[in-house]
Amino acid sequence: MGFRLVQERRIVTALPGPTSASLAERRKAVVGAGVASTLPVYVADADGGVIVDVDGNSFIDLGSGIAVTTVGASNAAVVDAVRDQVEHFTHTCFMIAPYEGYIAVAEKLTDITPGDHEKRTVLFNSGAEAVENAVKIARHATGRDAVVVFDHAYHGRTNLTMALTAKSMPYKSGFGPFAPEVYRAPMSYPFREGLDYDGSSITGEQAAARAISAIEKQVGADSVAAILIEPIQGEGGFIVPAEGFLPGLAAWAKDNGVVFIADEVQAGFARTGAWFASEHEGIIPDLITMAKGIAGGMPLAAVTGRADLIDAVHPGGLGGTYGGNPVACAAALASIEQMETLDLNSRAREIETLVVSRLDAVAGQVGIIGEVRGRGAMLAIELVEAGGRQPNPDAARKIAAHALQQGVVVLTCGTYGNVIRLLPPLVITDELLLDALDILEDSIRTVAKDQ
Ligand SMILES: *Cc1c(COP(=O)(O)O)cnc(C)c1O
Repeated sequence: MGFRLVQERRIVTALPGPTSASLAERRKAVVGAGVASTLPVYVADADGGVIVDVDGNSFIDLGSGIAVTTVGASNAAVVDAVRDQVEHFTHTCFMIAPYEGYIAVAEKLTDITPGDHEKRTVLFNSGAEAVENAVKIARHATGRDAVVVFDHAYHGRTNLTMALTAKSMPYKSGFGPFAPEVYRAPMSYPFREGLDYDGSSITGEQAAARAISAIEKQVGADSVAAILIEPIQGEGGFIVPAEGFLPGLAAWAKDNGVVFIADEVQAGFARTGAWFASEHEGIIPDLITMAKGIAGGMPLAAVTGRADLIDAVHPGGLGGTYGGNPVACAAALASIEQMETLDLNSRAREIETLVVSRLDAVAGQVGIIGEVRGRGAMLAIELVEAGGRQPNPDAARKIAAHALQQGVVVLTCGTYGNVIRLLPPLVITDELLLDALDILEDSIRTVAKDQ
């Protein structure tokens, strides 16, 4: 595909440059301190694999605005679709005056989500809103209250989704009280089974049995409306559960009339080399929550799943003023079409091969990489104290900062803050990706020397 902006890394000022610095001053006077930004620079333009700041610096983007701009931040097909839609109408509210785009997105999601059972879709604005509504649907359909979530989970920042999210700082601290009837079960985290970081691991089946036992003993199967899980955890550290864990939970849910909800907000839409991460283990979730990569950066979210569950809700029970906004729907249709045309599922797997082989080689040479993991272009490096397994958030922070100074944007995550995550736009060129990997490797080696 062609790009509007030159696909190159180019640092021409100190960071932040003077224009960014003055925007930072203006910001401090008016923007709430509770909203933090990773980058000290301000964006003027973005396209393909680059973000250009207001001082003319061009950064290689390995974050995609948190797995959102999978097709690029100004993909021409998405831009055309959005322009065409805004020239006709920006909003009528689907609950008042409906339109075709909403239906077309629902049709598309029926096609690409796992399973060929009868499905329905409802559209929303954000991932958190999709998760809240999936829980509403599961409770309504089952007549039960309890929701089971997992260690390291991230599901959003609204009141219910804060309760569903595991990590206190920064997501929950000081923001309680939280919604009731949320229960946390142990996750499968192959690199860190147990509390002693000894690396002893259990199988996915054993981890599922452990979680199921906790649910049965502490909640009771009859009380559980839903199990809600990210098939690959995002903010929690790009944790890929051991094989067999997800199928074990899904089978138990099915046997017990529990709704199995896959939160694919971060992992969905070609990111992991499949339309949805659930597919890697053949899971067919009852409900799937989606957002981030769905619409090329326009705010849109969805719940797609079993028709009998979703249609159990009375008319008027679900919705929202902006849910399924026509401009966002047009962007989603164009983005998904780009994923198909450019075969971005294959591209994600290519990126995995390229990045993992490179990082594995580095991991063998420095003592601070505990594990390189992930699927497709949802990849992570877990940093540890040299030679051991203790989490090393300091190294993660320093590597990200070092890479940024050289013009490469990487994000950190993880319960312990010690994971570097790589989420490049899937349209990034090999040349740009290789340049970014050179910088990342150099950053890792530089930081490893001081550890
Ligand atoms: C980002 C995220 C959410 C929340 O999405 P928002 O659009 O920020 O509300 C929910 N679940 C997962 C897995 C996420 O990564």
